[in-house]
Amino acid sequence: MPTYNRADLAFERGEGARLWTSDGRRFLDFGAGIATTSLGHGHPHLVKTIAEQAAKVMHVSNLYRVPQAEELAARHVAASFADSVFFCNSGAEANEGMVKAVRKYHAENGNPERFHMICFEGAFHGRTLAMLSATGNEKYLAGFGPPVQGFEHVPWDNMNAVRAAINERTAGIMIEPIQGEGGVRPASLRFLKELRAVCDEYGLLLALDEVQTGMGRSGKLWAHQWAGIEPDVMSSAKGIGGGFPLGAILAKEKVAKHLKPGTHGTTYGGNPLACAAGLAVMDVVMAPGFLDQVDRVARHLWKGLVGLAAKHPAVVEEVRGAGLLVGIKLKPEFNNGDMQAAAVAEGLLTVAAGMNVLRLAPPLIITEAEADEAVALLDRTIARMTGASAQAAAQ
Ligand SMILES: *Cc1c(COP(=O)(O)O)cnc(C)c1O
Repeated sequence: MPTYNRADLAFERGEGARLWTSDGRRFLDFGAGIATTSLGHGHPHLVKTIAEQAAKVMHVSNLYRVPQAEELAARHVAASFADSVFFCNSGAEANEGMVKAVRKYHAENGNPERFHMICFEGAFHGRTLAMLSATGNEKYLAGFGPPVQGFEHVPWDNMNAVRAAINERTAGIMIEPIQGEGGVRPASLRFLKELRAVCDEYGLLLALDEVQTGMGRSGKLWAHQWAGIEPDVMSSAKGIGGGFPLGAILAKEKVAKHLKPGTHGTTYGGNPLACAAGLAVMDVVMAPGFLDQVDRVARHLWKGLVGLAAKHPAVVEEVRGAGLLVGIKLKPEFNNGDMQAAAVAEGLLTVAAGMNVLRLAPPLIITEAEADEAVALLDRTIARMTGASAQAAAQ
């Protein structure tokens, strides 16, 4: 179906942060399949684990125990705020389950009328019917009938607006610690702390969408750790499977205990193959020193990008984000899609985001040298783009 505006590139092979097209062109991949191939391409441990598991057993359904899922859940619980995990296949599906868990919690506590989530302008939570409503973007909702009830939107990073929106029907607050698709817009750490406090004050659940920000991308395992807070429930996907489809809902016991047999489910979710991939990613990301190295290389990249912004003040308005989720916000005279295309011409893959932002979300395994290379390619990209626009203006 014609759902995508695809670039005319087809990749045949990848290694680390490199991708090669079938006609032999080489790219530095700072998009990582939209912040997903966290270990880069062809990571030997991930490849071997998937191949071995595929040869043993791929799928059995959740009618039976799945030892790989049990182990992966136990390791996520040990490494996080959560007591319990549900595995699924994608970010939107994880978010759907997360909202169901929030609603169920209040229903089981005798408050079925409390099913409304406070969400934020600029959010992105996925493309299923309910997540379109949680996203709240008119452009995505158009033509798909009445929005699903129970999602209200307030301005970003505005505590007064959040407080004003809370009423007797409010169940929880749903937020990305850093808005990804919306424009790599971080919530202030103070805002996240205040959200935790207001949830405690009113008996609301704090539901974090860490589909894009999680699994090491921010330089900590989960981005909320930078704020020193814990959610009640959280969604994950993208990087958690290293490129193999895997999503998860992580929750505190007080939330998870209400999702009794029959209340939620999935056929594929948490199958042996997907969870083997998740375990391989976990092995790498939780290895001693790995997240420190992500943080180190991210700071190195940031230094380079801040220098780039200082060199091109007419083009770059701001560099923002956290860790290896970085947004380069352009001045209104320039267009992020044009810059993305110019970067492709220079051999660099990036991803456009909202609010005229060019997003960098490289694999977590990049080196300082690769960060330098990306900054140099972005410098040439800007020269190409500004050269092209100067040419157009002269005509
Ligand atoms: C990508 C994304 C989703 C949707 O994930 P899918 O796997 O495409 O369904 C949801 N929330 C956030 C924050 C995302 O970045």
